[in-house]
Formats: sequence, C-alpha cells, structure tokens
Amino acid sequence: MTIPALDTEFFHAAAGRVADGSLSDFLAQLDRVAGCAHPIRLTGRIDHVDVATGEIRTVLNTEDMPDGLLLVPCGNRRASVCPSCSYLYAGDAWQIVHAGLTGGHDVPATVAEHPGLFITVTAPSFGPVHSRRANHGPAQVCNRRQGRCRHGRARGCGFVHGEDDRRLGTPICPDCHDDGALIVWNRTSGRLWKRTVDATYRRMATVTGMSEAGLRRAVRISYVKVGEAQRRGAVHFHALLRLDAGSDSDAWQAPPAWATGDLLASCWRWAVCHTEEPCPDPHAHDLPSEDDALAALAAAGLLASADVPPPAPRPAPMRAARWGEQLDVKKVLVDGGDLTPQAVGNYLAKYITKSVVDSGLLDRRIRDADDLEARLPFLGEFHARLIRTAWRLDLFPEFRDLHLRRWAHQLGFNGHWLTKSRGYSTTFAARRTARRTWQRTQQAGEEREPLDAFGRPDDTDETVIIPTWRYHSSGYANTGDRYLASMAADQARSRRKFARDHGSAA
Ligand SMILES: [Zn+2]
Ligand SMILES: [Zn+2]
Ligand SMILES: [Zn+2]
Repeated sequence: MTIPALDTEFFHAAAGRVADGSLSDFLAQLDRVAGCAHPIRLTGRIDHVDVATGEIRTVLNTEDMPDGLLLVPCGNRRASVCPSCSYLYAGDAWQIVHAGLTGGHDVPATVAEHPGLFITVTAPSFGPVHSRRANHGPAQVCNRRQGRCRHGRARGCGFVHGEDDRRLGTPICPDCHDDGALIVWNRTSGRLWKRTVDATYRRMATVTGMSEAGLRRAVRISYVKVGEAQRRGAVHFHALLRLDAGSDSDAWQAPPAWATGDLLASCWRWAVCHTEEPCPDPHAHDLPSEDDALAALAAAGLLASADVPPPAPRPAPMRAARWGEQLDVKKVLVDGGDLTPQAVGNYLAKYITKSVVDSGLLDRRIRDADDLEARLPFLGEFHARLIRTAWRLDLFPEFRDLHLRRWAHQLGFNGHWLTKSRGYSTTFAARRTARRTWQRTQQAGEEREPLDAFGRPDDTDETVIIPTWRYHSSGYANTGDRYLASMAADQARSRRKFARDHGSAA
C-alpha cells in the first residue's frame, strides 16, 4: 500500500502504530480488507499438509500479525453499515448482471444473442397515493378526483409535486389506504414471482403443443431480477429474462430457433395476468384503527357522534396476491434498438445501487416501539404505520409463518434485492474466488500461478489445507485504527472503480 498523503490527522491516528512498529503491516491488512468498517478479528493459522509425507508447513499465523489478529471483511451489503463491503457487493452484482447479458467470467459472449426481455412487474394499488406522474414530460397534477372520502378528506390533490416532495408515495387519505394488503403482498411477492416463471413454462408448453417436461428439456428461462422498494412502500421487480437451451444441452447454448423472444413475451404476459399466489387474508381481522378509537370515544359520550365516520365496510377478502396492472415488457436487441444488453445492464445496475446501497430505511430490523420512534424522522409517518401494521398482523395465528414482525423493516418483503436463476451467469462465490486468485497472483506485480507451501499449484490433491480460526472480536480497537481504515476504504474504492472502468477483475 502506498503511504497516503501525510497530514496531521494521519500522524495522530498512526502514532501508536508508528511507536510499536506495526504501522506498515497494519496498513497492508487494511488494504487486504479494503478498509472494511467492521472487520471480524480472528486468531489462528493455516497449515498445509503434504499428503504423501505428512509434513506440515504453516503458511499463515496470526501471531505474526499486528495485534496477533487477522482481519476478515464483514461482507455487509448496506452502505450505512460498511461503505467498503457494500461497494464491493454492488460491484459484484454489476459484474454478475453484465456477464449474463454480454458474456465474460466463464459465460460465453454468445448469450448476448439469445432472445431476451427486460421486464418490470409491479404491485397492485392499495389506495390512492400522492404521485408525480411525469412520463418523460413535465409533472402532472397529482390526482384530479373530486369530492371527499368517507373520512371527510379530499379525494384528489391539486398539487404538482416536486421530485423531493416528502408526500410522494404517501396515501392521499391514510385511512382509505389498505396497509395490511400491502404488507402481505410484499411478503408474498417472491413466491408470486417464482409461480409466474413456472406458469410461463407451462404456457409455452401449451402454445407449442409440448409436454411441460419436454419443453423444459428444450428451453430454459434464465433471469436476474432486482427488487426495488417504491416510495409507496410496495416492492416491484425489474428483471432480464433470457431464453437458453434447456437441460438437454450444455450450459449457455442458444435455445432452438422456435423459442423466440416474441413467444417468451406473449407467454410471460399471459403468466403475469393469470398467476396468483395464495396468502392469508389481511382483511380477516379488524385491526384497531383510528376510526375504532374515535368510535370508542363517541360511545363513551366524549365525542359528538357526528364527528365519527360511519363504520368502514370491511374490504373483500384477499386470499391471493396478484400482480398490478402496470406491466412492462421490452425486447432486448443486440444490434441497435434502445435496449441493447449494455443499456439493460446499466439499468439493472442502477436499481441495484439504489435498492441495496442507498435504502437507509430498510437497513436493520426494528426492535421495538422505542426503536421505531427513534427512526421516525427518517421513516416518515406512513412507513411507520406500515411497520405497526406488520406487527399487528403478526399477532394472528394464520400470519405466524410469515414472520411479519421480523420483516417489518422491509415492509414485509423478505427476499433478496438481487436474485438470479441458477443458470443466469456467474455467482457471487465465483466472483470472490476470482478476486482472491487475482489478488494472490498479482502480489508480485506480475501474473503467476498460486502455489501451496510445497511449491505446487495450490489446487492439487497432494496437499490438504487445514485452517484453524477462533473468533476474537469485531470492529476496531480505537479511533486511530478506524481513521486509517476509512482512508484505506477510500483508496480501495478509487482503485476498484478504475479497475471496473478498465475491465479487470479487481
Ligand atoms: Zn465491511
Ligand atoms: Zn398529491
Ligand atoms: Zn379516507
């Protein structure tokens, strides 16, 4: 690691380590974990054993390291927890998405020529919300409806909301908004997705007159999908669907000629319109609401009964989750057209960074009412209501299995923000291995094969690798070390950005 610009803060932070002679080793460690904000600190060692002779050679021992500890990156995906590890995650995600679109990292470049669709599926409406409605033009008036709802509030909203307006996505009347349905829909959306993909296979079989098993042997639908929490609290998905040859062929072969993008598009549309995923009914119980509170006050003679809205008709049961009407399907075209594989990759990458890195709201579980109260200024009243609704639903037996309390901080959504089918592209594990190999082979400044303690290529069966690790602690021991780490994180980030822009593996 190059010694950073010498400033007084650096000297303060580094003073202790200069004194005990551990500075350069410690900086090298920070460099290796890319300045992770909360590294795991381990004691232990790695031994290599020669299978033939039984000879043991220790290749790494934390006793030789600063403080006798090895730092391991925390690997957290949230920027607010660890800027460095989340940046690495977003970068890996970007590489995975791109490899599936244009090839690279073991995926052949010919995948770019497979029929592909860039699709968006959304949640249905859970009640009117403030919106900007600017479809590539100037923003429109929020909502032109006339009259008042049964809570006495205006149904419409005459504002043209600015992009940063905090009202955007919040209900025009909070009491008309179906909070419970939104929570249960978010929670069910991952399974709804899977069922929709299965329905697409079945529809393709019907349309082509094949058995479903026969169709799956001929064709595979590979996908990568990114979840995004909209301002209205509902999750929606952007995804790339790609047709590959099915299980009868090697990975990443082109599908048969009859399996076209148009066929996939029509079957996908059909599946989106016809698929539903069963869920427990969020309307089965009367959740205590503000109306109930008012009615109780009126009943006790503390309120003129004219102030109390008539009892709400209970909404129709919701026994299954379905997609909303907003459905977008665009073909990905290799030669020309708006949606080249590159453009789709960049779209998806943008959503990854948006949903994974910046959504401070969804970072951590909410422990209790006090915790919720403390986060209110950032969450807003609407999201806080949704969280309380998730807690309340969790009390009823038929919702137990959904663990809504555990997922309340993600407004019910329990999936990963980025998911892909097995055949889509390279994996996070492969990305990590590639990075480790790259680091080890680049250490001497030139490319070389990684070797074990006996000078053999490190992936032979002649050597057994025995790691022994014990957890010691996590984070950094003092502010000086933390400062050095944040500096290392900045350096690692600019280095990775350079590598990414220039197409290398770092
Ligand atoms: Zn980290
Ligand atoms: Zn509005
Ligand atoms: Zn209302």
